[in-house]
Amino acid sequence: MRIADRIVEIRSAVQRARRNGSTVGLVPTMGALHAGHVSLIERAAAVDDFVVVSVFVNPTQFGPAEDFDAYPRRLQEDASIAAEHGAHLVFAPTVEEMYPAGASTFVEVEGLTANLCGAFRPGHFRGVTTVVSKLFNIVAPDRAYFGEKDYQQMLVIRKMVRDMHMPVEVVACPTVREADGLAMSSRNSYLSAEQRAAAPALRRGLVAGEQVVKQGGTGSEAVQAVIAQIATEPILKVQYVEAVDPETLARPDHSGPPMLLAAAVFAGDTRLIDNIVVEG
Ligand code: AMP
Repeated sequence: MRIADRIVEIRSAVQRARRNGSTVGLVPTMGALHAGHVSLIERAAAVDDFVVVSVFVNPTQFGPAEDFDAYPRRLQEDASIAAEHGAHLVFAPTVEEMYPAGASTFVEVEGLTANLCGAFRPGHFRGVTTVVSKLFNIVAPDRAYFGEKDYQQMLVIRKMVRDMHMPVEVVACPTVREADGLAMSSRNSYLSAEQRAAAPALRRGLVAGEQVVKQGGTGSEAVQAVIAQIATEPILKVQYVEAVDPETLARPDHSGPPMLLAAAVFAGDTRLIDNIVVEG
């Protein structure tokens, strides 16, 4: 498996693939690949002829007190996993390659980024949309694959693509979970045994909230049910639990579906997020 770290390299590899009539799929990641990432790579490989997996821990999407330095980095292992599941090329640029000296251009989606994670991570989505725009400009994929685990991120990128007329189809892929329901995340490796044992209460809470919505409950009734279940594990500290419209992320003015239940909790310093869309 080739690991390209230069933009010129990736551009010429993609151009070669295109000349051969291949479609191009991009799976953007920050590495430390797990089964969630693998599901995106496999989906891309099933649809597109040439699959690029990017591995880049993007500094501009981390806040000053967040885990940029501690974030797990294991490029060789990631490259083997990517190859095993159908990727053709790994793009793992340096920070200097992605952000040329003096870079001062950013891409920002307004509105959708104001609440949920956006409210607690100022600048996070600006960093995400900026780096994803760069990746789209570098790789020029036909399709890009994103996980519903980061639901707000997926929606924000869809909006960016639409607003900026980017010729990319955004493909949303379902959340992959551990057997006990915990959404897979590179950050799960930070959890102590005790925190790991408590963590599935986040998913259990969302499932309890889903029941409330399905039975015609209001958003705030659903939120109460989520919080009550998470509270059974006092080691988990709720950052937010919200019930919003799954398309606009605005507070719904109706009871029952459709509704997005989204939550973020801390287990020690580790921030875990999850969500459920209750379909209408
Ligand atoms: P990350 O490396 O955490 O930035 O994630 C890269 C991509 O993988 C994003 O589109 C995520 O939404 C997606 N992803 C991460 N975890 C999961 C999961 N458990 N199931 C599905 N997709 C995931």
